[in-house]
Amino acid sequence: MVAASVVAFVAGGHFAAGLVIQGQQSRQLKELTDVALRRSEAAVDFGAATLKELVRQGAPGCDPASLQAVRLRVYLRSAVKDIRLVNRDGSVVCSAYSETLEFDNGWAERSDMLPSRDGRVLLFHVDQINGIALGVLFDIDDKTSLVAILGIDSSMFDIMPAELRAHSEVSLRLNNGSEVGQFSQKPRGEFAQAISFTSSSPRYPITATVRVERNALARWHTDSYWPTMLIAAGLGLAFGLLLVRAAAKTEGPIADIDKGLARREFKPYYQPTFDLRTGAVRGCEVLARWIRADGSIVPPLSFIPLAETSGRIEPMTWQIMETALGELHPRLRDDKYFKVSFNIVPRHLMSEGFVETLRRVVAGSKVSARQVVLEVTERAELPDLEKAAAVVKQLRELGFRVAMDDVGVGHSGLSQMKGLGANTIKIDKFFVDTITQDGAAATIVGMLVRLARDLQMTVIAEGIETTEQLQALVACGVEEGQGYLVSPPLSFAAFNEFLARREYRALTEDAVGSAARVA
Ligand code: C2E
Ligand code: CA
Ligand code: CA
Repeated sequence: MVAASVVAFVAGGHFAAGLVIQGQQSRQLKELTDVALRRSEAAVDFGAATLKELVRQGAPGCDPASLQAVRLRVYLRSAVKDIRLVNRDGSVVCSAYSETLEFDNGWAERSDMLPSRDGRVLLFHVDQINGIALGVLFDIDDKTSLVAILGIDSSMFDIMPAELRAHSEVSLRLNNGSEVGQFSQKPRGEFAQAISFTSSSPRYPITATVRVERNALARWHTDSYWPTMLIAAGLGLAFGLLLVRAAAKTEGPIADIDKGLARREFKPYYQPTFDLRTGAVRGCEVLARWIRADGSIVPPLSFIPLAETSGRIEPMTWQIMETALGELHPRLRDDKYFKVSFNIVPRHLMSEGFVETLRRVVAGSKVSARQVVLEVTERAELPDLEKAAAVVKQLRELGFRVAMDDVGVGHSGLSQMKGLGANTIKIDKFFVDTITQDGAAATIVGMLVRLARDLQMTVIAEGIETTEQLQALVACGVEEGQGYLVSPPLSFAAFNEFLARREYRALTEDAVGSAARVA
């Protein structure tokens, strides 16, 4: 996905760089077109000023002295190739260089000449054997006029940058389409695909056009290409990583948990706890099950660890607790000795506001804190035993009970058992499994029971599957337990049925409890 977005951005970057470069090139070429136009305007201004000056010094005639003076002007003004005296209709009377008249391919009539915006000069195309030129006509009076013939080609050659000069053309035309100036190193017909830019003068009927071959443009001023591409690739990388993170949020196991939470798919299952000697149900442990949309049931060890590390365990615990307290409420209300246990991971227990939220949730369900047991696992070391003990103290002051879960298989063992200040220890299934075959297991259980008594703690054993195990636990002094021997964890409906059967049996049968009857 990262690679794809880098590719996408590089492609986009190439496109963007292309646009940027194209934009830059267009601006520069437009400016060059304006330069060409301004130069031709200046040439016209210059020609007109020369003529005005001549008129101001006394209207020149065709006599040798006048022509001499005019030639001097021409000599001084490099852009002016010739100056002629013409009649009202435009026909030539005489020329500073009379021999140039022979070079004319034709001569415009006044009606073909185009006026400037202020109407003071007329412009026209001059076609000569050795090239084209621009004629500027200025009236001396209503009978005669002066014409300056301007060669503006020469002022165009340096307009285009050297790299483009061989692939471009600058051309100046009058608004009637006739060309009056041009610079190009290539013959007209040889222009490949070209892009053109035009600029029209507001003062004179002149338009400048610059045409550049596309291929030449592609190579011109592309310095900004690679920096732009680099930025694009960098952006692509960043965007790709963002996408990956966004995608991780919408698919994957954590996103699945989030969806499960949103649909309230995490449900409490209930496993009864019972008095080992009488078999009487004392309460239950709430064990999480993920009931997925397709009806499949996911066991807690498949999602609790991920929920814990991804910060989902807190909302999940509250969700399960609220549901369980709601479902159990009638029983908890009617039987004040019935207790419900919840599994709380240490991280959650130690989190900011845990006690407050717990109080609110329990009070909101109208359940007494005395009927709620919090099982804190000892499997992982409590990160800060002192702080945990402070929380436990707070909880006990509020009436909650705290059980230390999985005792014996845990991390820091007996010192933690004493330091935490819990009400109860839960002996792990591991010891129960082996208690009938392994003398050491029985010894450890017996030791834990004595230690618990010294610390005024009660003892529960989990995972009791056989009557032998039950008897061995009773022999060690364990009072309470849970396990498949009596019941696996049950859905709320099944748990209710289980309890109803128990009560019925208790009513109909001899009410004397015995270990044998528990089975
Ligand atoms: P745990 O707290 O030690 O719970 C006892 C586990 O032993 C439960 O497994 C229970 O179903 C199973 N068990 C009970 N009696 C027997 C038996 O006679 N034989 C056998 N083979 N197993 C028995 P479960 O429900 O799969 O839960 C596994 C663990 O997941 C729990 O161990 C607990 O640590 C954790 N867990 C379950 N629900 C929650 C929850 O809501 N919150 C948290 N934080 N952890 C939970
Ligand atoms: Ca437990
Ligand atoms: Ca356990």
